[in-house]
Amino acid sequence: MIELPVKTTCPYCGVGCGILALTREDGQVEIQGDPDHPANYGRLCSKGVTLAETVGLQGRLLHPEIHGKRATWDQALDYVAQGFLRVMREHGPEAVAFYVSGQLLTEDYYVANKLMKGFIGSANIDTNSRLCMASSVAGHKRAFGSDTVPGCYEDLELAELIVLVGSNTAWCHPVLFQRLVAAKKNNPARKIVVIDPRRTVTCEIADLHLALRPGSDAALFNGLLYYLSCYGGVNADFLEAHTEGYADALRAARISSPSIPAVAKYCGVSTDKVALFFQLFTRTDKTLTVYSQGINQSSSGTDKVNAIINCHLATGRIGRPGMGPFSVTGQPNAMGGREVGGLANQLAAHMELDNPEHRERVRRFWHAPRIASRPGLKAVDLFRAVEAGRIKALWIMATNPAVSLPDADRAGAALKRCGLVVVSDCMRNTDTTRFANVLLPALTWGEKEGTVTNSERRISRQRTFLPKPGVAQPDWWIITQVAQRMGFAAEFTYESAATIFREHAALSGFDAAKKQGDQRAFNISGLAELSDIAYEALAPIQWPVAAAAPAGTSRLFTDGRFFTVSGKARLIPIAPRRPANPTDAGYPLVLNTGRVRDHWHTMTRTGKSPRLAMHDLEPYAELHPDDAATIGAQEQALVRVISRFGDMIARAHVTSDQQRGSVFVPMHWNDQFAHRAKVDALVSPVTDPISGQPESKHTPVRVELYQPAWYGFALARRPLVLNDIDYWVSAGGSDFLRYALAGERVPRDWAVWARDLLSASEQGEWLDYLDNRGGRYRAVHIIDNRLDACVFIAPTFALPPRAWLAALFGKELTSSERMSLLAGRPGHSQPDTGAIVCACFAVGQHTLATAIRQNHLRSTEEMGVLLKAGTNCGSCLPELKALLAECVDDWVQV
Ligand code: SF4
Repeated sequence: MIELPVKTTCPYCGVGCGILALTREDGQVEIQGDPDHPANYGRLCSKGVTLAETVGLQGRLLHPEIHGKRATWDQALDYVAQGFLRVMREHGPEAVAFYVSGQLLTEDYYVANKLMKGFIGSANIDTNSRLCMASSVAGHKRAFGSDTVPGCYEDLELAELIVLVGSNTAWCHPVLFQRLVAAKKNNPARKIVVIDPRRTVTCEIADLHLALRPGSDAALFNGLLYYLSCYGGVNADFLEAHTEGYADALRAARISSPSIPAVAKYCGVSTDKVALFFQLFTRTDKTLTVYSQGINQSSSGTDKVNAIINCHLATGRIGRPGMGPFSVTGQPNAMGGREVGGLANQLAAHMELDNPEHRERVRRFWHAPRIASRPGLKAVDLFRAVEAGRIKALWIMATNPAVSLPDADRAGAALKRCGLVVVSDCMRNTDTTRFANVLLPALTWGEKEGTVTNSERRISRQRTFLPKPGVAQPDWWIITQVAQRMGFAAEFTYESAATIFREHAALSGFDAAKKQGDQRAFNISGLAELSDIAYEALAPIQWPVAAAAPAGTSRLFTDGRFFTVSGKARLIPIAPRRPANPTDAGYPLVLNTGRVRDHWHTMTRTGKSPRLAMHDLEPYAELHPDDAATIGAQEQALVRVISRFGDMIARAHVTSDQQRGSVFVPMHWNDQFAHRAKVDALVSPVTDPISGQPESKHTPVRVELYQPAWYGFALARRPLVLNDIDYWVSAGGSDFLRYALAGERVPRDWAVWARDLLSASEQGEWLDYLDNRGGRYRAVHIIDNRLDACVFIAPTFALPPRAWLAALFGKELTSSERMSLLAGRPGHSQPDTGAIVCACFAVGQHTLATAIRQNHLRSTEEMGVLLKAGTNCGSCLPELKALLAECVDDWVQV
């Protein structure tokens, strides 16, 4: 029988790549990019390529639990429904809340929002998308009267100038970066400007990099607006016909940013670079400004968004091919959540909670007994209310706030005090599930059906290609079952995701355009009559999808009409503000958090992939050499990063790509994968006053050298016993786990300690070596001539290489390999491949460097021919290029 792949959508970032998933008869899954999907045309990044490694059931939550004991669905659902009803009865609907996620599918999101806002009668439902792009939502609504992304991905190829602001596109939206690389190759005259305090790998394709002072973006774009007005850059006809507020916005821009030198000084960039950027923007009609978390995650994020949009409105560069402001979202369904009203200050279908007509319309459509009458609590405030005891029952769906919220340990402490914490998740053990009274097992990617919307408004299907494990259920089923038990059975009797989608689509067109000025941007009423078969076959489509545009809409505002009452877009006067928490003598550095190339959120999925684990094994703190020298930290030393809210330990990465006075730390690691490595425990909970989005890019910290008594690493076929280890990080491997270790006390007997650590049985051989004076210890446990576990200890962080050890787990040991194990270094026949650069083909840094030097390679294409590196997803190409530049010098000099 010929097996056919299932078309679905990647569960990671907001690019929303199409995927072909094939499950073979033996259960093995194969993943490929979908060549027909308009987001990626077959491309995938390293995370997408390795998805098959993440679909195993280890660590899954497969049965409901109440207070840690297995329960039936009936028991768990009754418990949740009765618990919520009891709190509502005793304390009112404002005493309950949902905290949901951009990982939910639109159908899940829709019923959660309907239950809370229309039936419980509170708007206390907020989402982790608040942490990601709430400032873009607020900025869009201020400027356009609607939360609308004007353009589409095709604009990346059509633009002649692409400005990337606060976006490490190469790592965070890798397939969009690949599209940019290809576009630049096709037309080298196309200019790319990167605006980011750090020199990230995205700068590899930049013609100009503005390493501006953290938080100074609004002043830069205000300066640009004023410059445009002075040098003939504004489109007076467009301003007159289609906008309002230009004069006020310009006045504010002139006050804050009166000249190029003033802007340069404020932003900490040379006048030449500022002038060049302003000139490029002024003279290039087809300009696209792509922005992301570097703009949004700020205490003035909404103003920064509007400062960017102001420049596009002033030039009339919106609604036409190759131009416009373009917010790219972090999560796979952040946009779908926005559509159904998953944010506490929105109603469903982009309608407004504070608009009585909208409330009444939604109430009628839902046949709701009550409708929330005021906005609910936004994420940070919601957890403050839990802490204060005002929220007494909280349901967390598909997210991990004990890791990802700012001041994360405080969020965890709040959960501990909450009377009823329900967590629906696909994973049993997360930093959040430990606080749950009730655990509800949810299906995950590959097991569930529904839709997601990507950054360009494109709705795509996620489809099932794996069997349902245990008794796990889709989130929409779990929510509707609870709703039925709460007494709302008549309005929550959905049979499938398709039924919910049809209702969602119908609401978006319900009473649409009855009144002048009340047209809605989000209207997918053209999909409201889809049959089950048509829903199953639904091809990716961009909203709006209504009678006037049944095939979808790639660009909005093409006619210069916006969704404000006047139909005109609004320019907003911006007075730039410095970040809310300035640095001081006690906390002199700015902490900036973000993503790494090969991990996603709190690693519950990417942490399962051995190949992804190999790119960044440990959390790191990226420091400028001067800041590192101040504390005596060398590359690979351990450092402690400390803020007013918490502290963590990370590996120092010393690089002049980082700007002086700043430190970058990835956001992914948490208590499941490391001890003392949760960066959000350090992040200040200050938020943007309009969007409620936390300032995750600017927390004052200090960094100190962490000097334990010993450093080490271990590899083992089972989890280590880590009770008294002061610092550890674990990473997945296919046959074994890897650990980095450090301790503040030297054990009395290394051999006893190592046997306990490795849980080494008496079975097999135990080989060890102790250099007491040198403080070195190595131990190896071998069973049936195969490596079972090993640990290496040294007094400094300069430990032996370990990539070669991994290769030994897959084979029987030769006598020379046994000797090399105790010697602590690879033999001649066991080359050390170094840290993995190409995750697709597991090609290490040392292998690549040697190949470049020995074969006199000159291009990434030649590296691809020889080693395959970079020939699949292309995520590693910027790093290959950097390595090439480093090593070519060596062989040229030879
Ligand atoms: Fe998934 Fe990568 Fe595409 Fe994002 S860019 S959707 S992570 S394959």
